[in-house]
Amino acid sequence: MTATPVLAVDAGGTWMRSAVVSGGRLFGAMKRDSPNFIRNRLPLEDLQEAFLDEIRTTVLHYRERHFRFSSIAIAFPGPVRGGSVYGAPTLWGPMNSPYPLIRRLRGRLGGTGIRQIAVINDMTAMGWRYVSRRMKDFCIITVSSGIGSKIFWNGEAMLGSSAMGGEIGHWFCGDRYGNLVCDCGERGHLGAVSSGRGIAKLAASMLQSGGGEASAPEEQIESLDVIEGVLRGDRFWNNVLEESVKPLASAIRLIALSTGLSLFIVVGGFASSLGRAYTKALSNAVLDDKFMRTFNYSGRGIRIVIGESSDYQALRGLWNYLNSGNAEVYRLS
Ligand SMILES: [Zn+2]
Repeated sequence: MTATPVLAVDAGGTWMRSAVVSGGRLFGAMKRDSPNFIRNRLPLEDLQEAFLDEIRTTVLHYRERHFRFSSIAIAFPGPVRGGSVYGAPTLWGPMNSPYPLIRRLRGRLGGTGIRQIAVINDMTAMGWRYVSRRMKDFCIITVSSGIGSKIFWNGEAMLGSSAMGGEIGHWFCGDRYGNLVCDCGERGHLGAVSSGRGIAKLAASMLQSGGGEASAPEEQIESLDVIEGVLRGDRFWNNVLEESVKPLASAIRLIALSTGLSLFIVVGGFASSLGRAYTKALSNAVLDDKFMRTFNYSGRGIRIVIGESSDYQALRGLWNYLNSGNAEVYRLS
């Protein structure tokens, strides 16, 4: 599963992105709505079936267009271990038991010409986009439907034996935000405050407490309102942004101080849409601490940068992963 073309699918909480990747180049890139729990008010089992259907439909879409591939690689929005997934908050909402994704896919992809399957966490895939001989140690953080992260250390993703490495979106970040519900069902998680979906909830809560005036009714606030408000320099929306990055800044401080990492790459639709305005707000919040300002990592301070703006970087990451020599690949039969 290396040099031959691969169908790569980035299954996000909002979008399903796919392309056939060959020689590191993307062909026939496509973006469709995810069958997520917000658009489809269905029981968990039905959402999982809808996901399998979507994967099969995607394979058949490329087959009809005469693309040749016998492998599929999927970037999944939750912890992945041993072919099972252990959560998918932005896609399926709360779940109580592991889901044997590889086994179910084997059942669903029969007759499509797929012979090999690989599934890894979406942030792991995203991080693989940036791994190179010169860049082996960094933390990648996504700020999109949810919050996810991954530490890469010496060119390998740090997952731990539980595969939970990088699930900082479900870190409880304090009673102050305790009324905000995370997609996983718990309250007060980082993803409930600092994600694209979270910031809309935070804005609504700040409006309720008389935090200022906004152009949208509070029950209809979306992350796009925040983006537009910040980009036009509106004070209220800038306050919302500054408030929303504080818990994420705390998480970054802890990661930096516990690992010594200095490079943080921020990706994801929400952060990318704000670009420099986002990294500036986040960097200011990280450095709003005397020790962090004076702490010097072997001559290099903390760098928070926006990653590539391409929608398809996880697909390139999947390709790099498959060609790393350490990919976990399952045979279909
Ligand atoms: Zn959570």
